[in-house]
Amino acid sequence: MNRTTSNQLYETAKELFPGGVNSPVRAFKSVYGAPLFIEKGEGSHIWDADGNKYLDFCCSWGPLILGHRPEPVMKAIQEVLEKGTTFGAPSRYGLELAQLIIDNNPYIEKIRFVSSGTEAVMSGVRLARGATGRNKVVKFEGCYHGHVDHLLVKAGSGLATFGVSSSAGVPDAFAKETLVAPLNDREALTKLFEEHGEDISSIIIEPIPANNGLLVQDKSYLQFLREICTKYGALLIFDEVISGFRVGFCGASDYYQIQPDIITYGKIIGGGMPVGAFAASNEIMSHVAPDGPVYQAGTLSANPVAMAAGTAQLKACLEEGFYCNLYHKTADMVEAVNTFCEKENLPVKLVQTASIFWMSFASERITKADEIDGDKMSFFKEIHALLLEKGIYLGPSGYEVGFVSAAHTKEDLEYAVNTFCETIKATFDKVNG
Ligand SMILES: *Cc1c(COP(=O)(O)O)cnc(C)c1O
Repeated sequence: MNRTTSNQLYETAKELFPGGVNSPVRAFKSVYGAPLFIEKGEGSHIWDADGNKYLDFCCSWGPLILGHRPEPVMKAIQEVLEKGTTFGAPSRYGLELAQLIIDNNPYIEKIRFVSSGTEAVMSGVRLARGATGRNKVVKFEGCYHGHVDHLLVKAGSGLATFGVSSSAGVPDAFAKETLVAPLNDREALTKLFEEHGEDISSIIIEPIPANNGLLVQDKSYLQFLREICTKYGALLIFDEVISGFRVGFCGASDYYQIQPDIITYGKIIGGGMPVGAFAASNEIMSHVAPDGPVYQAGTLSANPVAMAAGTAQLKACLEEGFYCNLYHKTADMVEAVNTFCEKENLPVKLVQTASIFWMSFASERITKADEIDGDKMSFFKEIHALLLEKGIYLGPSGYEVGFVSAAHTKEDLEYAVNTFCETIKATFDKVNG
């Protein structure tokens, strides 16, 4: 496979950007080769700068639930472009998206749009602090919430890949306001609340942790979080930047039937444009400026082009059978690969929730970050390289999950099954000599 153009672009990029990239996990640091420069996407496929075609399971890390360039989204964007790109004033496009979301989501009453998942989380945590008058926030090891200062404490995703436990440039004084607990450990959390309960504004969790493997929690554990928050007067924040509109229109809240106090969104909500949001009850949202004292603002917030893209994408998600269809497609692929691996005695298992999947090398179901064996990521490295050669694009880290979109066809997924099986087998044949 010829990657000359990508490699040349990467050489130039290294002179322009730190590490040659604009987001660290794109740098291929934990897999072979240089990052591919992507030229275009269509449906379930992307093409790199050398014209190589790949079946895309990264889907821009989740936003593209309809695949690349879905017709309704492209049309909506083009229509708005005829009128402008940004006004910095209210427009009906934001209204349409908000109405669509709130009318179909019983877990929230009011929403505020921002421009990224990080911004949504930063604002959501500020709101929790402002509403409770408390400073501390509890987060979990293995959950990622964007690059918010005080949440870059033993965070996952790119950071876990690099084996760094926190970021330079975050003052100790900020980190001290964050309490980090292991997932799925009631005792640890109970202890934290016994010691700091009076100061804890909120618990923030990815209800379906999908940034450091796919560490699916039991409903009863999430229920426990709900109860301990209520008991101590803290707010429960579900960071649904991945799970929102992914595991169902109303995300993990509905999947588990648990009412959080604040929900953060990103990724899918913008139809491939930069959008995030935080949402809550009328009462909690009344703390947000200009109604209340919690300041939050954005020059490009509710950008009309992005709002129209989000509206078009979410309308498609609301179509009858949309999520059911995605689930079954993904399940068929996952089951076929797992059946093969079991039969061939290969130590790989695809873990699935809705249209999210993750390649696990653990022999049992795992629910905590420290149960992932980092040494086994060398297997992923081999598999990733072989998959690229055969035209399958996974996110370049074994800690990252894959996404199936509505654009993935039966043929695409059959090709994926065969290729995953072949590739996993070849990798372990090589390892076992
Ligand atoms: C991606 C992600 C974020 C950060 O969103 P950005 O748009 O990258 O800033 C926050 N929380 C979760 C759960 C995410 O998956």
